[in-house]
Amino acid sequence: SEIFDTSNTFEDLGLRNSVLKGIEKMGFQHPTDIQALLIPAVLSGRDVIGQAKTGTGKTAAFGLPLLHMCEQGVPMQALILTPTRELAAQICSELDQLGEFTPIRSVSIIGGMSMRKQQQAIEEGVEIIVGTPGRVMDLYGRKQINFKNMKHVVLDEVDRMLDIGFRDDIRKILSNVRCEHQTVFVSATIDPEIERLSRSFMKNDAEKLSTVSGSLTVDMVDQKYYTVEGWDKRRLLMHILKHEDPETTVVFCKTKATVQKIADYLRGRKFDVREIHGDLRQKKRNSVMNSMREGKVQVLVASDLAARGLDVEHITHVLNYDLPEDPEIYVHRIGRTARAGRRGFAWSFVTPEQGQLLTNIEILTGAHIEKLEFDEGFKPGP
Ligand code: ADP
Ligand code: MG
Repeated sequence: SEIFDTSNTFEDLGLRNSVLKGIEKMGFQHPTDIQALLIPAVLSGRDVIGQAKTGTGKTAAFGLPLLHMCEQGVPMQALILTPTRELAAQICSELDQLGEFTPIRSVSIIGGMSMRKQQQAIEEGVEIIVGTPGRVMDLYGRKQINFKNMKHVVLDEVDRMLDIGFRDDIRKILSNVRCEHQTVFVSATIDPEIERLSRSFMKNDAEKLSTVSGSLTVDMVDQKYYTVEGWDKRRLLMHILKHEDPETTVVFCKTKATVQKIADYLRGRKFDVREIHGDLRQKKRNSVMNSMREGKVQVLVASDLAARGLDVEHITHVLNYDLPEDPEIYVHRIGRTARAGRRGFAWSFVTPEQGQLLTNIEILTGAHIEKLEFDEGFKPGP
């Protein structure tokens, strides 16, 4: 398959039995290519930059060696930082599952949620913290989190974590980790500029390991585009939802206002629709994510809050209702489908003025995006 080499086994990677038991319970039979590459490197203690396509198991690639290396009863030994609360919660839950047979515990330290429960877990001596930089810095400022035992720091979605909005917090956090520590940075998109910036936070012998060759997107995702006038996008959206009858679609829009408008529009058309963006209360965001994971949602209308990292099995289609300005965001958005070797569909709405944007996306991804006709000759997908 595209993401596995079935000649590899988890047993060969040097992970302890309690960790192997968790892997088996998760139903993972073989490591993915990035796991086979990253797990031994992280276990060796070196600093690592890891690049692999969306949905190829980067979480377990850094999570499994952390579960192996953490020492029971040493509080706050490992810190995993993510750009969104939902992603931190997801990683924490994956570590809970993978680590079921180990004594290692994790907690998500994220904004918008009760601080008391998070503080309690910290007081109980939890070994791994998964969090967003804001809340982590907040608790650090209150002296509830400290970095004195911190031996491993992971930045998931590292290119986003080093964006202007987060970079200062990251710098503060990393410069306050005084003891000898390992850094592991991963993403599906790491250009030379991000690699250079990453290295400025890492030891000199940091190693970059990548399984990406050819295109930046997985072959299992069917990428197409429609040319459509802005005023006609709703009709195209309805057309696709009716003719394709997808299991679950994520519709990405540019602004929170458009997300809300399109969600209300679809709701009026009797779709089982939810929306997610940064202006919603966290309680609402959590309930949306729960419904998604339960497979109860036909259409999720989303801002780029949902572009990165989220892993929901049922998502079969991604629609770029608005094309993203940043080609790397395109890679992450369409990466919400076709995960773990499954098939998926990613179709973009391109207005006549956006030809250059589409070209830029094709140049970055190295993938061919085929044109579909709206109206004349429309063929329902496979
Ligand atoms: P990425 O971070 O690379 O986008 P994730 O870590 O979110 O990908 O993993 C994508 C999906 O693949 C998750 O549902 C995860 O449980 C699953 N997965 C990870 N590793 C394996 C494996 N070795 N075998 C089967 N499924 C796996
Ligand atoms: Mg990920």
